[in-house]
Amino acid sequence: MDAQRLEWDTPMYRLAVAQLDRTAERMGLDDNIWERLRTPQRALVVSFPFRRDNYDKVDTVFGYRVQHLLTMGPTKGGVRYDQDVDLGEVTALAMWMSWKCAIMNLPFGGAKGALRIDPNQLSRAELQRVTRRYTSEIIDVIGPDRDIAAPDLGTDAQVMSWMMDTYSQQKGYTVPGVVTGKPVEVGGSLGRTEATGRGVVTCIIEVCRHLGVPVEGARIAVQGYGEVGRVTAMLASEFGARVVAVSDVRSGIYSPGGLDLKRLDEWVAANQYVGGFPEAESLTNAELLTVPCEVLVPAAVQNQITEENADDLECGILVEGANGPTTLGADEILQDRGVFVVPDILANAGGAVVSYFEWVQGLQHFFWSEEEVNLKLITLMRTAFGDALRLAEEKQVDLRNAALMRAIDRIREAKRRRGVFP
Ligand code: NAD
Repeated sequence: MDAQRLEWDTPMYRLAVAQLDRTAERMGLDDNIWERLRTPQRALVVSFPFRRDNYDKVDTVFGYRVQHLLTMGPTKGGVRYDQDVDLGEVTALAMWMSWKCAIMNLPFGGAKGALRIDPNQLSRAELQRVTRRYTSEIIDVIGPDRDIAAPDLGTDAQVMSWMMDTYSQQKGYTVPGVVTGKPVEVGGSLGRTEATGRGVVTCIIEVCRHLGVPVEGARIAVQGYGEVGRVTAMLASEFGARVVAVSDVRSGIYSPGGLDLKRLDEWVAANQYVGGFPEAESLTNAELLTVPCEVLVPAAVQNQITEENADDLECGILVEGANGPTTLGADEILQDRGVFVVPDILANAGGAVVSYFEWVQGLQHFFWSEEEVNLKLITLMRTAFGDALRLAEEKQVDLRNAALMRAIDRIREAKRRRGVFP
């Protein structure tokens, strides 16, 4: 297949495909299935007018919804608001979502959506308008049995609530199952906001146990102090780990003795960004990655650990909270250096798991306690981690390959059973 000619051919898409190719080759995957998995099944690009608060100003906004795999059930995946997003990025993220759902045994294929906007530059009213228009534009391809949205970079529970309301207004009745990650008041699941971070921390604990590294006192550095990064830091510190550095889009902070996260949260509530926090040194996002620590958690954006800086990392364990933070070349360098990598498709799957729980609860109109949600999440994460680790040892491959093998194997079987139409 000549990937050059495809509309979604970008560096991030190439990373996702290169990961797939590497594992597929190792498994001896059937060419027909391999080929099907390299491209999305559906990709929708929309552009629409968006009126700013200044009434005379109308911007043209681009939006995307990509459904990678329709074999496993409805598709499922987050919605990202980012000014640099493109079709290739959304396609890669949809593909990773397919693997994530298959690793966790969830009855979904992968999808992803995005708007090419900078949410930090929009007023709340603008954010609501652009979200509602985007939802209307993609309404024919989403739905509780078709494709279910969730929060991702730059979106949150409120955005999901507007999406759900817009969809429901068009249908004429309330349809909570069209999105997950909703506020609890409108059918969200308890524990969903913390789910991805909780899953990341479950992986940290499991990998530390496997390597014999005590979690108590372990130094942790987290790039990106958002929904995933902040919860990861908070829960890791509850287990006795020392969070020595965190960052956001502007800058980072570092305190070798450990940051006081309660004070930091008060600081962020008042100042929006972590920079300037009085009890720490400041550092750049690039410097944060090379801080001496036991566990490094990239939880911001893709393409952070590359061939240029992989040699400079001073962590023993890398747990990928973000999607696609490590390039293929960097991955190989880290493996040679003996850094233990827990891949994104496993480490950050906790959000997908509790999204699934939220969807199930919504369909049944029967809601679970937070303890139940957390316990079920931790159990599934541990099972998937242990399963991937066993496969990695059996096949003598790294955890990324092993997790992907497990995912592809499940998808292959489903495709084989369903056959080809017509
Ligand atoms: P978020 O918007 O809540 O937080 C992102 C954080 O990263 C913020 O602190 C932001 O300031 C920072 N950031 C943004 N751009 C940056 C840059 N260029 N350099 C450094 N920092 C930057 O987003 P989130 O939901 O926490 O998602 C973070 C990552 O985790 C993304 O890769 C996302 O795809 C992935 N992820 C999120 C979920 C989820 O449930 N939210 C689930 C799985 C994976």
